[in-house]
Amino acid sequence: MALERTFSILKPDATERNLTGAVNAVIEKAGLRIVAQKRIHMTRNQAETFYGVHRERPFFGELVDFMVSAPVVVQVLEGDNAIARYRDVMGATNPANAADGTIRKLFAKSVGENTVHGSDAPETAAIEIAQFFAGNEIVG
Ligand code: ATP
Ligand code: MG
Repeated sequence: MALERTFSILKPDATERNLTGAVNAVIEKAGLRIVAQKRIHMTRNQAETFYGVHRERPFFGELVDFMVSAPVVVQVLEGDNAIARYRDVMGATNPANAADGTIRKLFAKSVGENTVHGSDAPETAAIEIAQFFAGNEIVG
């Protein structure tokens, strides 16, 4: 199995409800290591760039408003098959469809306010990590 890195965001609904430690506990219990982490308040520009692939979707404005509504925690997670593994740990986008024990089943409020982001492929993971972290901020 390949040792990978993935990019994670603990979204505003997680910071607002003081759930960052609870979410990190699920991440670490799943065998993923948090090798970089910082709390930031995203600018509108950062959020629009980050979710640029969804620019034409009807929920884009709502999504950007949400992402800048409160601080977030951006992270780099490392582990075997980290990208797919974290997607499994997160659960389905809509918490109504998320499996038991997943972060979104445990904590998400709605399909929009769904607690976490995780990269969906190696290419996007590399781009997303580089948007928020310098190489020397990642300590594995
Ligand atoms: P993420 O990219 O945040 O990890 P995802 O890959 O599970 O989530 P995407 O389809 O990439 O899902 O959607 C990005 C984000 O846009 C979702 O996590 C959610 O916050 C928001 N979103 C997606 N679909 C809807 C919707 N129908 N209504 C409102 N917000 C939505
Ligand atoms: Mg996505």
